[in-house]
Amino acid sequence: MEHDARHNPDDCTACSICTLHCPVAMATLKFRGPKMTGPAYERFRLAGFDDDEALQYCSNCKNCEIACPSGVPVANLNMLARAAYCQKNGHAARDMLTGYCGDLGKLSLPLPAFMLNSSLKNPLIRALLERVGIDRRAPLPSFAPLAQRRRLREKRRAGKARVVLFPGCFTRYYEPQVGLDIIKILEKAGYTVTVPNEFVCCGLPLVTGGLIGAARKRARINSLALKRRAKAGALVITPCPSCALMLRHEYGALFPEEEGLADNGHIVLEAGEFILNLILNGRLSLSKIRSVPEGVFAYHAPCHLRALGTGLPALEILGHVPGLHVENMDAGCCGIAGSYGFKKGKYEIAMRVGSGLFAALKDSGAKLALSECGTCRVQMKHGAGLPTAHPLSLLLDCLG
Ligand code: SF4
Ligand code: SF4
Repeated sequence: MEHDARHNPDDCTACSICTLHCPVAMATLKFRGPKMTGPAYERFRLAGFDDDEALQYCSNCKNCEIACPSGVPVANLNMLARAAYCQKNGHAARDMLTGYCGDLGKLSLPLPAFMLNSSLKNPLIRALLERVGIDRRAPLPSFAPLAQRRRLREKRRAGKARVVLFPGCFTRYYEPQVGLDIIKILEKAGYTVTVPNEFVCCGLPLVTGGLIGAARKRARINSLALKRRAKAGALVITPCPSCALMLRHEYGALFPEEEGLADNGHIVLEAGEFILNLILNGRLSLSKIRSVPEGVFAYHAPCHLRALGTGLPALEILGHVPGLHVENMDAGCCGIAGSYGFKKGKYEIAMRVGSGLFAALKDSGAKLALSECGTCRVQMKHGAGLPTAHPLSLLLDCLG
């Protein structure tokens, strides 16, 4: 096995709290739940027993880790066990497709959006994708217009900047406007922001797909880039909570045997966290709000934002905008968990997991659904039929 830094399962006290918080265990009997699949079965795995298919149902949403009072990294235990299983039994084509989304996204860069998006909507291509395990009902995200994708790339020439934007693959290829909006907010606070190309995909889709060796390579590249930026006194800001979680905490947790991977995670901040601090310390003033859109806005907190443990900063920011009406849906996981809900055999589970949120969104009477996570937004639109936006894009609308 490539990985030998598995956590001691004996830290688990078998309290079952994680099982109560696992959205997948609540949605399907095919999954044994965090306690059983994680620490309990880990004892068998360590004794050399083969794993079984149930492990493949963990979505890596991390709700078990958020809930566990004993600090057992249940999701990471599952992901490392999945990696070992895949090394032995081979990788599914769909896990390669979704795992290497960053590299595939790069190939899309010279191509116009209409060509990419019409291909992804073509029934023949969807049938082919289904043959490799991507459910044809899955709400695949749409590529952004070429000009927008280019505009974000051009920000790499911004010179010596103290603030670096790590857009993440979703922002880079599907919603570059989110990155551009955040840059504009930071410029209002007096920062010059650059989007350097020394960083690669954070590696989370590879971890979830059982491709731990490829994830480790991404971790090494990004850790070196973080080291250089830390030396220059820079901060790395990302609009994606999952990328923030990976760059800040997970390299050290997944690869503790590798020196230096965890050293500079502290310079990575989720964008809402950074901007809230700017507001609280007076560097960004909300006194110059130009316009406040009417109506109700519905907010969904991504699981990986909650796993970061930094609160709900974007919701707090919007709460400081006088007259803006934002409601926290507080209705649990949306089900998509990165690419989990795109996969055949998982699509129905993901829709069942998200059903509470979809109902809350529909009942809210909101005209726009907000969330920091790109794939949560895709799933919210798919499940509740509402248009969506990153909460900081709404903030920029208000700032004008
Ligand atoms: S990561 Fe999510 S799906 Fe997996 S065991 Fe934990 S709570 Fe359940
Ligand atoms: S992993 Fe944590 S929450 Fe789950 S049963 Fe063990 S101690 Fe309890």
